[in-house]
Amino acid sequence: MATNGNEGGLKMIEELTTNAEQIQDEELGEILSRNAGTEYLRGFLHGQTEKQLFKKNVPIVTYEHLKPYIDRIANGETSDILLAEPVTGFFLSSGTSGGQPKLIPVSAEYHKKGALVGTFAQSPMMRHFGDINQAGKRMELMFARPEIETPSGLKAASVSTSIYNESKFRTNLPKLYTSPIETIFCPDPNQGLYCQLLFGLIQRDEVVKVGSLFASTVLRGIKFLENHWQELCYDIKTGRLSDWITDSGCRNAASLIMKPNPEQADLIENICNCKSWEGIIRKLWTKARYIGCICTGAMRQYTTELEFYCRGLPLVSAFYACSETFCGLNLEPLCKPCDISYTLLPNMAYFEFLPVKNERDESFEMKSNDEDTELVDLVNVKVGQCYELVVSTCAGLYRYKVGDVLMVSGFYNNAPQFQFVERKNVILSVDQEKTSETDLFKAVTEAKALLDPLGFILTEYTSYVDTSSAPGHYVLFWEIKGKEGKHCKELDPKIMVECCSRMEESLHYTYKIYRKRNIIAALEIRVVKQGSFEALMDYFVSKGTSLSQYKKPSCIKSEEALKILDSRVIGKYFSPKPPL
Ligand code: AMP
Repeated sequence: MATNGNEGGLKMIEELTTNAEQIQDEELGEILSRNAGTEYLRGFLHGQTEKQLFKKNVPIVTYEHLKPYIDRIANGETSDILLAEPVTGFFLSSGTSGGQPKLIPVSAEYHKKGALVGTFAQSPMMRHFGDINQAGKRMELMFARPEIETPSGLKAASVSTSIYNESKFRTNLPKLYTSPIETIFCPDPNQGLYCQLLFGLIQRDEVVKVGSLFASTVLRGIKFLENHWQELCYDIKTGRLSDWITDSGCRNAASLIMKPNPEQADLIENICNCKSWEGIIRKLWTKARYIGCICTGAMRQYTTELEFYCRGLPLVSAFYACSETFCGLNLEPLCKPCDISYTLLPNMAYFEFLPVKNERDESFEMKSNDEDTELVDLVNVKVGQCYELVVSTCAGLYRYKVGDVLMVSGFYNNAPQFQFVERKNVILSVDQEKTSETDLFKAVTEAKALLDPLGFILTEYTSYVDTSSAPGHYVLFWEIKGKEGKHCKELDPKIMVECCSRMEESLHYTYKIYRKRNIIAALEIRVVKQGSFEALMDYFVSKGTSLSQYKKPSCIKSEEALKILDSRVIGKYFSPKPPL
């Protein structure tokens, strides 16, 4: 389904990926020529702009190292502490939700890069799905958070909120999206969600794409629909918005769109009233060409459930980005979620890669600290090797670890393609063993396979280490849903015990050894009631996380978050004996 409009974009991607090495070299040259005189870089480069000196002297850092410099700018000191250009504002980055949002400096040059991405990022999608801007509207769930003002008077907002605030986005919104701006900026996310679903249903015949930034938000929307479809149908039938929607912006927006439509309400009611919701997205939005949302990394746990709801519609994870920089595009939008690779765009930042141990490479030797490990340039990464992403940007981040681990899956022209592996810092550990997000995901995948044939789906999970008694043990919180009206109370406790054993068997060697030696106690699964993870999401959103950018923590670190889950436990199960 090629369209002429995207040929320029595809050509640009060809050029960028073909000339990756030269473009990266220019990127670093540009960063240094602009910023070598800043207080931060002067400390390592003494005003010089040589690339080799940068690689030799500038340390690999985390956000914590740069935070004092960033905070000084936020508190009113001049930007040239970190970058020559004036800082125009900050992005609030969640990384993986759970910690305090980070303040990422933003400049005019940063915005220029963002605008550039906008000119070609859609091209791989258009090749397969045509120009959806011309075909109809997108039913995208979007949630803005209020901006924060720093003491210097600069604004800080999540990337998504900043996009929703752009005048171009606002101008195009009525033509391209089903959600009015008031529903996106509604201070109560539940009222906003209700209205976005309502308007998406009212305009269902025009919808060509359903989505959100992350898979978890699409699922949140579907679950909300499961609980509210009768009310939504009633509103559509009568042309009146439910009374509990008190936000005046939402009510005004509704008054412009809603009129009684009993035929549409009946059609929707018939679709929603069936026993199985398999393929419900496709049935409700019959012209949708795909579901667009990030479904890799922490989101991969949602793909099975999402595939159930969209049955046959492609699930497309179009890009990999963080507040610090846009990183890469998925050039094969139709590939299965488990095979998705992102091609890094060499004109977005200067990318370097810190090799990290990968299960397949037993010979890999970890150095005692990152300083001793050589960073690898973008074009020199090796296929099959895992790396932690390190970026230097035009907006004052130098050799900064984003915290993501990526695996090289191949090359497109001369630019490497990466599979997202995991967040670096999410680990469970009782003693010397370290269990990563990926280890956990694999073990959960093995164990939940026991539920599928019995008609149950594991919809959400997270974990923590319980050290309240010695020895400590791993605790998994599971939210389970019965297919076709089954209740999770019908689930045989023996199966849950078996799931605990299966998880332990699937964990890594060190875990099993420690478990056998009773250095780690039996793994526990706590089944929580329906809606517990929504309550967790609500909690993080109430603490300032943007609902659009929410990523559930794979490991719970906050006491309050733990209490939310613990207070909803309906069953506890333990592994009966150490794994073989
Ligand atoms: P934030 O800065 O709050 O937008 O979060 C950015 C983080 O989201 C990244 O560092 C990744 O950990 C995660 N992320 C973004 N895009 C993807 C993707 N396509 N696949 C997996 N994780 C992603």
